[in-house]
Amino acid sequence: MIKQDECIFCKIAKKEIPVEVIFETENFICFPDADPVVKGHSLIITKKHFMNIMELPSDLGKELINVIKKLGEIKLKECFSGFNLIMNNFPEAGQIVMHAHIHLLPRKKGDGVKVLG
Ligand code: 5GP
Ligand code: ZN
Repeated sequence: MIKQDECIFCKIAKKEIPVEVIFETENFICFPDADPVVKGHSLIITKKHFMNIMELPSDLGKELINVIKKLGEIKLKECFSGFNLIMNNFPEAGQIVMHAHIHLLPRKKGDGVKVLG
């Protein structure tokens, strides 16, 4: 189990390493992914360390939905016309950073990106 003081997303949340914050709320922070799989690929992370959705307190659900909608709105006002949300939970599902986060992948008509189907 990774110690929280070694967790890269905890360091980002505490601004101990530089990050281009898109916006933040009481419990979440949004910023661009360092290795984007599509243009505008962004991450939503919790400010506190939870491993993944299974540890995330349910009472953060409403704030999280509002954060997703706000980030989606920002991307839709840029040059995008849709977005996918992806959350990898546990290493078997591709989770590499063991700190709860959601990927937002902005999409455009004809961008050729394949996410399921
Ligand atoms: P996952 O754990 O869901 O596979 O993905 C972790 C994501 O975090 C990856 O897309 C990776 O590019 C991103 N990432 C890892 N370290 C950093 C970092 O220090 N800064 C930023 N902005 N993104 C990071
Ligand atoms: Zn962490």
